Amino acid sequence: MFGRKVDNSDKTLTVNLNRCPQSHRCPSVSVCPVGALSQVGNAAPVVDLDKCIKCGKCVNFCPMRALSFK
Ligand code: SF4
Repeated sequence: MFGRKVDNSDKTLTVNLNRCPQSHRCPSVSVCPVGALSQVGNAAPVVDLDKCIKCGKCVNFCPMRALSFK
């Protein structure tokens, strides 16, 4: 539900390479508040798990739903 707080603390942010078309600059990179996402060229974004605070902003922002907590 919209506005519901989801607890992702026991999960890991993962990038689904089958969903990411890897053909553009990843829009989610710039919404991460802690700079945990990086991208080389148009490749799929890479998550720095030491930086990620599991806020979920990138998950909600990716139009391909390629980022998720597992
Ligand atoms: S879940 Fe939040 S902190 Fe982690 S990579 Fe996504 S936007 Fe950044």
